[in-house]
Amino acid sequence: MPGIQSLSKGEANYRKAENPKFSCHECKFMFPRLSIGGCRFVRGVIHAEDTCDEFEARGGEQQART
Ligand code: SF4
Repeated sequence: MPGIQSLSKGEANYRKAENPKFSCHECKFMFPRLSIGGCRFVRGVIHAEDTCDEFEARGGEQQART
């Protein structure tokens, strides 16, 4: 797992999400979950409709209450 904000967008293969199910908005590392925010791993401004190779879906066991 990468360190906190250790990746550039190029390194993470940050790009437009073709499938909204796998976009930053649905990824557990985006904060806050607005149209524009930040990411735990990727530096810079993160757009909810984009994605990258570090994508991980929200809603695992620890997220079950939200
Ligand atoms: S898909 Fe990538 S850039 Fe987007 S929030 Fe998740 S880890 Fe960050």
